[in-house]
Amino acid sequence: MHEMALAEEVLQIVQDAARREGLRRVVALWLEIGQLSCVEPEALRFCFEAVACDSVAAGARVEIVAAAGAAWCNECAAPVALAALGDPCPLCGGYRLRVTGGTQMRVQQLEAV
Ligand SMILES: [Zn+2]
Repeated sequence: MHEMALAEEVLQIVQDAARREGLRRVVALWLEIGQLSCVEPEALRFCFEAVACDSVAAGARVEIVAAAGAAWCNECAAPVALAALGDPCPLCGGYRLRVTGGTQMRVQQLEAV
């Protein structure tokens, strides 16, 4: 399962940050998930809770922050919003798009005690 691997990756980032900053317990984390990242936020939340149960982030609240999809349209020579991969340009209806944002998944912020 794709989300399980991602959850382990997220936990690794959280554990590294906790070690670096000397955090005893992470109580919440903010995960930025791009609209175009093909990550199912609820599945990722569920997997994270499972992999984190023995870690510094056990029981941590997972806040999902959605990041909008963005692309550059070669026809319009302008940045446009993109709701899903494979969608046409909302301005000209063309497909000469280069995705520029919204495919990322990253840990934005941690809250610790
Ligand atoms: Zn366009």
